[in-house]
Amino acid sequence: MATRFVIIGGGPAGNTAATYAARLGADVTLIERDVIGGAAHLWDCIPSKTMIATGGAMAFIRRLEGMGLEEQTAEVDVEALTERIESIKMRLQRSTTNLLSSQGVELVHGSARFLSPHDIEISTVDANGQPATRTVYADAVLIATGTRPRIPDWCQPDGERVLVTRDCYPPKVFPESVTIVGSGVTGVEFVHMFSSFGAKVTLVVSRQQVLPGKDAEVAAVLEDDFLRRGVHLLKGARATAIEREVNDAGVDGVVVRCDDGRVVHSSHAVLAIGSVPNTDGLGLESAGVEMDKGGYVQINRHCQSNVSHIYAAGDMSGKLPLSSVASMQGRKVAEHVMGLQKVAHRHLDYDKAASAIFTEPEIADVGLAEADAFAVGRKIRVTKVPFSSTPKALINNDWRGFVKIISDPATGVVLGGSIVGRHAAELISVIALAVTANLKVTDIVESLLVHPALSEALAEAAE
Ligand SMILES: Cc1cc2nc3c(=O)[nH]c(=O)nc-3n(C[C@H](O)[C@H](O)[C@H](O)COP(=O)(O)OP(=O)(O)OC[C@H]3O[C@@H](n4cnc5c(N)ncnc54)[C@H](O)[C@@H]3O)c2cc1C
Repeated sequence: MATRFVIIGGGPAGNTAATYAARLGADVTLIERDVIGGAAHLWDCIPSKTMIATGGAMAFIRRLEGMGLEEQTAEVDVEALTERIESIKMRLQRSTTNLLSSQGVELVHGSARFLSPHDIEISTVDANGQPATRTVYADAVLIATGTRPRIPDWCQPDGERVLVTRDCYPPKVFPESVTIVGSGVTGVEFVHMFSSFGAKVTLVVSRQQVLPGKDAEVAAVLEDDFLRRGVHLLKGARATAIEREVNDAGVDGVVVRCDDGRVVHSSHAVLAIGSVPNTDGLGLESAGVEMDKGGYVQINRHCQSNVSHIYAAGDMSGKLPLSSVASMQGRKVAEHVMGLQKVAHRHLDYDKAASAIFTEPEIADVGLAEADAFAVGRKIRVTKVPFSSTPKALINNDWRGFVKIISDPATGVVLGGSIVGRHAAELISVIALAVTANLKVTDIVESLLVHPALSEALAEAAE
């Protein structure tokens, strides 16, 4: 009899696991309470990157003057942009749903919770629209329920002016001025997005550097760009309250108060201070699944929880909160459920995951970071080449940024790298492949790359 595999959550982790397991012969049921594609399609990756693409197009138009064209301007059409976001989301949702159906995956719209380690109850609606419940048996279960924005007790988002990231799509209005609280990846992408659309932006940075934990040189390029655009960086400040206010002129707005007494007034504020896992209400105690203090399900290298037939993947597994990682975990879970780990099966190495920040310039990195190598006293070779040395950057009229490659001085094996600049998110794939496949810098140098292209900076950095 086919393995009964039940998946809770239809985001990147859940839908990838479902597709692969069905292909491998499992009898798969995927339960999703919202939309197939998950938060990634509904609120996170797709809408944010679509808005950033429009903001980027506006920035590009502003730069055209330097390319021998007359000065250009562009106005954003909020309605058209909203339609564009919705149509991209619908298209992706349709294609993912079609793929799952074509593989024979049973899709159930409803909310799931464990009754026991092998029994899952689904709260759904019947054909007459009446509330109904159904219980399904599972040989193996994947929990892929994702996360939601973290809301601290000192702030009450109201969806109007005090916002979490999910309130920003569709873009009902573009704020005149906005204070972003949180200077991690999401925070800086929102700074970039709103400032591209012309808002006056303040970023509350709790430390002395945006993107804490990232390479200081990389963060410095981004800070320079923010300052050049007039973004106000409030460094070393922790927000302690966000309140609605009406100013002396009778205009509605918000005030963000910081622990050192500084205050920022703006028309809107956006909280971007991380997320919490969607594990409450799942009945994990009935299944005997243990969570850590933050509510994340702890997993081993096969993504198994402490109950061996119950797996967890994606953001709620507390590993790297990236859509790409969630999908790869889903694929690995499908392979493990179907017994493929007994043959060729590569384990997921989270240290080799490439990631990107879709600001301007773009930032991408993979593998070992320079600071981490220094921290443990590991000998490394670091080579850095600015894009300004490549003809293509000059042709593009955009020569910001650099390529940095980190390798082992003894063997030449590529250990990591960072790229700051145009198309960094695409170019990092070369270094990511080298890191995953243990390639050497000479393998990059001896690849016959295109000229003129930004990838020439990669070959030069590998020299
Ligand atoms: C603003 C923002 C931008 C981002 N941009 C990027 C990016 O550019 N690139 C990138 O790689 N990552 C990005 N991420 C991260 C990415 O969105 C997540 O890593 C990804 O969504 C995780 O996928 P997942 O499958 O774990 O969960 P999700 O996508 O959150 O899906 C989980 C699903 O489970 C469902 N669910 C929850 N509980 C139940 C239940 N009890 N019963 C049934 N269904 C349930 C939910 O409805 C949801 O659809 C971004 C995140 C944010 C916040």
